Amino acid sequence: MVLKHFLPNQHVKSIFEITPDTLAERGVKGIITDLDNTLVEWDRPNATPKLIKWFEDMKNSNIKVTIVSNNNENRVKAFSEPLNIPFIYQARKPMGRAFRRALTEMGLQQDETVVIGDQLLTDVLGGNRSGFHTVLVVPVAQTDGFITRFNRKVERRILNFFRKKGMIQWED
Ligand SMILES: [Mg+2]
Repeated sequence: MVLKHFLPNQHVKSIFEITPDTLAERGVKGIITDLDNTLVEWDRPNATPKLIKWFEDMKNSNIKVTIVSNNNENRVKAFSEPLNIPFIYQARKPMGRAFRRALTEMGLQQDETVVIGDQLLTDVLGGNRSGFHTVLVVPVAQTDGFITRFNRKVERRILNFFRKKGMIQWED
């Protein structure tokens, strides 16, 4: 079934449910994360204090993080640089190339890295096809940029399908 490529291994209500402890339990040493509506609202330019703390906690636990975003250089760079977090912009997810580049730069293997994001069609599909453990987060904001709005329509249908089949339990 092709749809299984859209099924995340795990889903959480927010990025803050992902802690160094829960990752360490599974031997995870790295995170590839989406930016818009995963870390902050798509239209918020900078990280929140709580998010800055989240990045610090990861760093203190030797968990590497790379931001991999389909958004443009200006957006991704302006957000990531003040945090000192490596980033890849115009990543073209669900294509696998940016994920491979992030792995190489972190010096990690697929099975010790998780892919986190808020979209089935880019983050989850891309992560699954490249062999990562994938984590879907509930989007930080209810609104989206123009392209994402179209993807959401498709996504809602897929999520409804999974729900009906009992493949995910989603309380929202
Ligand atoms: Mg996103």
